[in-house]
Amino acid sequence: MSEKSLNAAGVSVEFSGLRALDNVSLTLSPAEIVGLIGPNGSGKTTLINAITGQVPLAGGRVTIGGDQISGLSPRRIALKGINRSFQIVRLFNNMTVVENVESSALAHGVSLRQAREKANTLLAEFSLSEKAEDLAGNLSYGDKRRVEIARALAADPAFLLLDEPAAGMNEAESETLLHILSELPRTRGLGLLIIDHDMGLIMRLCNRLHVLASGRTIAEGKADEVRKNPAVIEAYLGS
Ligand code: ADP
Repeated sequence: MSEKSLNAAGVSVEFSGLRALDNVSLTLSPAEIVGLIGPNGSGKTTLINAITGQVPLAGGRVTIGGDQISGLSPRRIALKGINRSFQIVRLFNNMTVVENVESSALAHGVSLRQAREKANTLLAEFSLSEKAEDLAGNLSYGDKRRVEIARALAADPAFLLLDEPAAGMNEAESETLLHILSELPRTRGLGLLIIDHDMGLIMRLCNRLHVLASGRTIAEGKADEVRKNPAVIEAYLGS
């Protein structure tokens, strides 16, 4: 279990001269769940992309335990212990569920036997054991989403960044997901950053909130205090 924090300090991102993120600082500690919220277009996905190396920084830096990771390739950053999910599910549809999870473990340098063991443990944890040999492409949407998270966890990340993990799920699927996610800090010491529009889900999961509007931080802190912040209410009503 890592005791190192993930730290984004003064991060700015520009697209063709337009500032999508302006001087944003966020710390994610091991075993905590932070909700990243804000109106559409406020820069939430861009912040995840900046942390994981998918977009270059125009300013600031990202570190883990003080070691700089900004500037490294997405693959190198993943190897440093940061994993993510995407708004659109990305799985190998022609591979089985267990192969999808296994291949992620293999990419992080364990033996085939260890990878299979790890995949089976994760599938059991995610109530997916019965579907281990099904093709990923044939799963329901909610199951695909869970396989995607199992895949991310197979790489043993210290931090997991989830972009709208419950989007498109029905109520039962989203309850199952919420339960799985809420256990991860305790069972794996994992630090989670979660973007979601469902405030009910965010408030049930997150200890802390970080709120963006127009690429800037407008509030951060304890979830129940932040949600009462007038600037936050204003940003949501105005969107
Ligand atoms: P959110 O996730 O909060 O909805 P985004 O991070 O997706 O917001 O987008 C923030 C802003 O950056 C938006 O104005 C969006 O159009 C712009 N943007 C995001 N990604 C790109 C990109 N690859 N190229 C150009 N503009 C982008």
